[in-house]
Parts: sequence; structure tokens; C-alpha cells
Amino acid sequence: MKVPFVNYGLQYKKIEKEIDRAIKKCLRNGDLILRDEVKRFEENFAKLVGAKYCLAVNSGTDACYLSLAGLGIEVGREVITTWHTFEGIIWVIRRAFLKPVLVNPKKDFLIDEKEVERKITTMSKVIIPVHLNGKICDMEKIENMAVRNGLYIVEDSCQSIPKKLEGNCAFYSFYPAKILGCYGDGGAVVTNDEFLFKRMKWLRDAGFINSRLDNIQAAVLNIKLKYLPFYLSRRKEIALRYHEGLKEIEEAGLITLPESEYWQNYVIRTANNRRLQSFLEDNGIETQIKGYAFDKPCITEWVLSLPLYPELTNEQVDYVIEKVREFFQK
Ligand SMILES: *Cc1c(COP(=O)(O)O)cnc(C)c1O
Repeated sequence: MKVPFVNYGLQYKKIEKEIDRAIKKCLRNGDLILRDEVKRFEENFAKLVGAKYCLAVNSGTDACYLSLAGLGIEVGREVITTWHTFEGIIWVIRRAFLKPVLVNPKKDFLIDEKEVERKITTMSKVIIPVHLNGKICDMEKIENMAVRNGLYIVEDSCQSIPKKLEGNCAFYSFYPAKILGCYGDGGAVVTNDEFLFKRMKWLRDAGFINSRLDNIQAAVLNIKLKYLPFYLSRRKEIALRYHEGLKEIEEAGLITLPESEYWQNYVIRTANNRRLQSFLEDNGIETQIKGYAFDKPCITEWVLSLPLYPELTNEQVDYVIEKVREFFQK
């Protein structure tokens, strides 16, 4: 049996007619840049995540840049985040002339709030909590710290669509493998702050950074939004199936908890991720071992993601479980 890590073609096939119609309509009307579909998507997405304003841009990475640039922070101020994140975000902080301050993740791989607190200085200006592997950072603690110290919160919600906005702004990614993916790169930033929104909107199209979501991609996303409840529930079903099948394997150090709602990834952690990966590959199963490392050369081996997308069949999931168990001889 083959279990690819992603299967974009299969998802497209299930909604092919609708997608083709929407794309053709954009092409025939010549609606390419910042047209109706983008506006409609921004409205839809803002509503979905409980925000007043949404700006559709061309990636999660750019959405983060627009957040930091839009906040208008003086050069050299500090942005506290975790190094267990998408590495590009750390470069974005530098690109915005700010200084990344990286803290350790906790055992659950989310940012350690206690360490954040210890790293706050008079130069601190922003906290970027990263919601990962279906789990949400402790926003109450983070909000308390932010209020007490006059810091902004920029949420990295790329892996937790459709998590509701809690910080000053939140950014999302529509990279094809994400929970809500388009057919190329895409992202969005949402906020309730009108001034911040206006600044980001100006920056998006000002020539400093041309970062617009294509109208065609927005048309795709508008269609996929209809299927999001199904994508979410099917992802959850698969994750729970993995969890049932794998929970007693202690060596696998399962780190994704069953109560999660945002099943972007199902990750496990073993002492031998590379060996497990090649064993699974020999059995036709593709997995991913993520970077999530910055200035930490040994950390790249930390987590292994199993295939997780709505189009997986139960047979495929059971086969993956069987092979992981076989590796640990359970
Ligand atoms: C995917 C992702 C990003 C970057 O999104 P792009 O659209 O690929 O730029 C940032 N942070 C996290 C946690 C992600 O998973």
C-alpha cells in the first residue's frame, strides 16, 4: 500500500467542477489582482476567526512581516518567540529590523510562558506565540504578561485554522498542505485594530512589499471554505484513529493530544526518527521530519509527522498504525 504525505490531486478531483468554474470565471472576467474574490474571501475569513478586519496576502510568512511592519515598532526592539517554529519567521523578524529572542518550547512543544517572562526586558515589544501540532498556547498567561509589560501579541496561527483571534493580530497560511490550502502560496492576517489594518493594507500594495493574494487563489479558497467543516472533522477523525492505535507505544512519545481541534499535523517523537522514517518509507509511507530549528543543529530530528489529510482512507491510516507498531514491535 502507498500512503503519500500529501495528495493534492485527490482533493482537487473531489471538487474539480466547482473549482474549474470559479477559476475560469476569474480568467474570463480578467479579475486577477485584488478583485471581488479577494474581498469576499477577506470578509468570509474575518468572520470565521472572529476578527473585524482581514487582509489576504501571498503567504503566512509575509502576513507575519506585515504584522510586524504594520505595528510600526522602532528598529532594534525585541520580539520574543520560540525557536521551535517555522524558521522563516525568525528571518522575518530580522527583515523587520527587530531582534529575535528565542525561548525553549515546553514538553508539549509550545512556547514556555515562564521563560518568556524571564526574557522580557525594556527592549521587548512583541510576543509571537506559535500554536503547533493542534495545540494552542496558554493565551491567558501570555495576555497577562503582554498587558503588564506593554507588549503586542502577534499570533502564529498558521497551523490552527480556524482558531479565533486573541492577540493584537494573528496570521495564517494557506500553503497547499495547510488545513485550508489554496493551489499555490497564500496567507492572511487578521486584526480588530483599524489603524493597524490600514497600515498593513497600505504596506501590502505599496511597493515595499507586493504581497497580494491572487484573485484566483481567493476564488479557490472561497470554495474550499465551504468544505472546511468536513476537512476539520475528517482530520480529527484520522488523528483520533492514530491516537487510539499508537497511544500505548511509550517509545513513540506521542505529543499530540486527543482533545485538539486543529489537526494540522499528527506528530510523534522517537529517539530514532530517521530510522522510523526510513522503515516507513520502505513500506510505502511518506512522513516528514521538520526543521523547526534555528541555531540548534541537533533539533531537526525532533518530531516526525505522519500523513494527515482529509482524503486518507481508514485503511491507509490503519496501515500506517500497523507499520509504526511493527517498528516498535507492539
Ligand atoms: C506554514 C507555517 C508558516 C509559514 O507559512 P507560509 O505560508 O508557508 O509562508 C509559519 N508558521 C507556521 C507555524 C507554519 O506552519
